[in-house]
Amino acid sequence: MNIGFIGLGNMGGPMAANLVRAGHEVRVFDLLAEHLAEAAAAGCIVAANAREAVADCEVAITMLPAGQHVTGLWLGDDLLGALPAGALVIDSSTIDVASARAVGEAARARGLRFVDAPVSGGTAGARAGTLTFIMGGEAPDVEAARVVLAAMGQNLFHAGPLGAGQIAKMCNNMLLAIQMAGTAEALALGVREGLDPAVLSTIMGKSSGNNWCLERYNPWPGVMESAPASRDYQGGFMTRLMVKDLGLAMALAEHAKSPVPLGAAARNLFQLHAQWGNEALDFSSIQRLYRGPEHR
Ligand code: NAD
Repeated sequence: MNIGFIGLGNMGGPMAANLVRAGHEVRVFDLLAEHLAEAAAAGCIVAANAREAVADCEVAITMLPAGQHVTGLWLGDDLLGALPAGALVIDSSTIDVASARAVGEAARARGLRFVDAPVSGGTAGARAGTLTFIMGGEAPDVEAARVVLAAMGQNLFHAGPLGAGQIAKMCNNMLLAIQMAGTAEALALGVREGLDPAVLSTIMGKSSGNNWCLERYNPWPGVMESAPASRDYQGGFMTRLMVKDLGLAMALAEHAKSPVPLGAAARNLFQLHAQWGNEALDFSSIQRLYRGPEHR
């Protein structure tokens, strides 16, 4: 298939590379030259701008930071107008529901198809092609998206109508933030009382406190070689993006009139941590907040 792919950051870069590996022709664009160079090395065709990346493609995918980037490109710059009729637009960024619906409705009004398909699984999942895609949209569009997304992910869910993918993703990331903060809190407590963080992690990982952070993404440096904590919290899922997602979850909670006391606490913790200059570090660096000022 001819696929246009915009946004080649921590997630989009390896995702586009997996599409090439699956035999697709992938035309890419990003604002950063180094990301374009990496994509070219992975076999992608580098376009001069976003319009050129999606012109004449059957499927166009965006993997951008936030709602304003997605609406800015598809609506503001009228990128939808560059697509041939019937093309399928897949937005895999995590963005607010209103923006997802606005782009989806505008796409449909132009005879295009749209699926919101945010992902879970982190950068390791993006590299390995084992992401979870959480889709919102019409069933036939979701079925069409599966064919493409299977090259980048293992679990492909249809959450419901347009925007439902984003709602499910926000619920998931609020839970992830709570789990990460809780895991960091428990590890800091045990270490202060003389335990080895690796031993404590193994014990909790085989006990009722087990969770994804302990299994795949341990926040204590050196406990898990593959985790961002073991490379000074570089790469991974930036704290600023987690703060964004928690803000989206809070807005959703306000709309639903659903109490979220733990989500609100997690949001404040990550916001505080971001304010101390940790915005660009992986979100598991919240461990430093618990370890104290000498680790900040
Ligand atoms: P990132 O900041 O590493 O990458 C975003 C990329 O978009 C950058 O390369 C940037 O240059 C590019 N970009 C921004 N505006 C652009 C524009 N107008 N035209 C072209 N390129 C543009 O972010 P990421 O970690 O790859 O995350 C992307 C999305 O996926 C976010 O919504 C994030 O919340 C979500 N997400 C991230 C992870 C993770 O582990 N990193 C996991 C799940 C979901």
